[in-house]
Amino acid sequence: MAPQLQGYFNKVDEMAEGFIKRLSDAVAIPSVSADDAMRPQVVKMAQFLRGELEALGATVEERHPGAEPDRPHLQIPPILLARYGNDKSKRTILVYGHYDVQPALKEDGWATDPFVLSVDQKSGKMFGRGSTDDKGPVLGWLNAIEAHQKAGIEFPVNLLMCFEGMEEYGSEGLDDIIHDEAKKFFKDADAVCISDNYWLGAEKPCLTYGLRGVSYYQICVHGPGQDLHSGVYGGSVSEPMTDLVKLLGTLVDNKGKILVPGLNELVKPVDEEEKKLYEGISFEMKDLYDGIGSCSSIYQDKESTLMARWRFPSLSIHGIEGAFSAPGAKTVIPAKVIGKFSVRTVPNMEPHEVDKVVLTHLEYEWEKIRTNNTMEAKLLHAGKWWVSSPKHWNFAAASKAVESVFGCKPDMTREGGSIPVTLTFEQATGKNVLLLPMGSSTDAAHSINEKLDRRNYIEGIKLLGAYLHYVAEEPQVEQ
Ligand SMILES: [Zn+2]
Repeated sequence: MAPQLQGYFNKVDEMAEGFIKRLSDAVAIPSVSADDAMRPQVVKMAQFLRGELEALGATVEERHPGAEPDRPHLQIPPILLARYGNDKSKRTILVYGHYDVQPALKEDGWATDPFVLSVDQKSGKMFGRGSTDDKGPVLGWLNAIEAHQKAGIEFPVNLLMCFEGMEEYGSEGLDDIIHDEAKKFFKDADAVCISDNYWLGAEKPCLTYGLRGVSYYQICVHGPGQDLHSGVYGGSVSEPMTDLVKLLGTLVDNKGKILVPGLNELVKPVDEEEKKLYEGISFEMKDLYDGIGSCSSIYQDKESTLMARWRFPSLSIHGIEGAFSAPGAKTVIPAKVIGKFSVRTVPNMEPHEVDKVVLTHLEYEWEKIRTNNTMEAKLLHAGKWWVSSPKHWNFAAASKAVESVFGCKPDMTREGGSIPVTLTFEQATGKNVLLLPMGSSTDAAHSINEKLDRRNYIEGIKLLGAYLHYVAEEPQVEQ
C-alpha cells in the first residue's frame, strides 16, 4: 500500500460527520432537472458546488449551452469545469458526475422527506434523493481533496472535473461541450473516471468496463381510414393489429433467442480469457430473482445469466401505440398501430449494420404476410455500446485501490444498459474511461427511498482518493 494512504484513510474517518453534513446540504437542494419549476434549484445546486470547489482551492469555469431544444423557455444549467492542481510532473485525471436528480415526491411512497438526508443510525442507510445518484459520488471527489489538505498529504494528481445538471434529462448540451473542450480544458487528461453506476450486489465493489448500446425501432402498420367496429367490419377488412402482431412475433422467441437473420453473426465471439472473468463474479441467481421480483429467469446459472445481460444482444418488444389498452371489452379494430421494440447491442454490432439486417428482415417478413395494409419501419434512436480494456493502467490503479480499502479484488463487470457520456468522453479525449461505482445495487437510484450506505460513502471517499494515488504510481504504459 502506498505509505501516505493510511494517513489519508484515518483523516477520512475522522472527518466522516462533516462529509455526511456536506451530502445532507446537497440533498436539501431539490435539483430536479425534469421539472420546469425546479430549474432555479438546479442552478442553486451548481452554485453550491462551485462554492465548495472554490473554497477547496479549485478553479471553476462555467459553460452555458443555452436554451433546451425541447423546452426553449428553459436555459440548460451550467456545466461546471473545475481544475485542482496544475503540476506538469503529475498525471491528470478527468472525472465526471452530475448534480441534478430524478423527481421525487413524498406522496410517491417515500418513507422520509426525499430532500432531507435521513440517516438511519442502526443500519447506516442514508436516505435522500440524489444520495447515491449522483451527489454522493460527486462530493466524494471534493471530500477526497479536503481530507488530503487536512491530513497534510500532497494530492497525487491534477484533477479535472466536469459536473453537469442535466443528466436525468438526456444530458442536453453536454456532448458538444465535451467535444469542444477535448483539446482545451480537458487536453491534459491522461485518463477518465466516472462514478455514476453501482456495484453488482451489496457487498463487493466492482469496476465496470463495458456497456451495451441500444437501437430502438418502430413499425407502423395502417390500413382503414379510421378505427372500425368489429361487429360491422370484422372479417371483411385487413386488420393492422393482426399484421403487426404477426410481424413482432418474427423478432424473438420466448427463450430470448433473436430470430432476425444476420444479427447474431455481428456479435464478437467470446474467448476463453473472457469466460474466466465471469466465473469469479460474486453474483447469485437469488440476486436476479430479487431484482425481477420472480423466478422467471431464462437461464438457471450465473454465467449464462450475466452473459445474457452484458455480453450478448437482446431484443425486447415494448408496446403498441394506438392499440386498445384500457380495461373492459371494447370491440374496436384499430386503424393504425405502431409497434415499438429495441435491440440492446454489443461489440462488434455497428449501428448501421444492425439497422440494415433488422429493416431487411421486417420487409421480408412483411412480404410473406400478404396483406392489403401498409407497413413502415424505422429507427427511432441509436446509442452505441462501449467496452474498455480492463487491463489498462487506469483499471489496474482502481483495482489496487479497491484492494487497499475493501481487502478484496473487485469484480470486473459490464452493464446491460447504457451511460452515453462514457462513449462521448472516450471518443472526444481518446483516453481510457473507467467506471468506478460508489453505491450498491440496493440503493434504489431513480426509485422511491433512494439511499446510500454510510459505508459506501465513507469507504468510497477512501476509494476515490486511493485510486488517484495508485494512478500516480502506475507505470507509463498504454494498453
Ligand atoms: Zn446518475
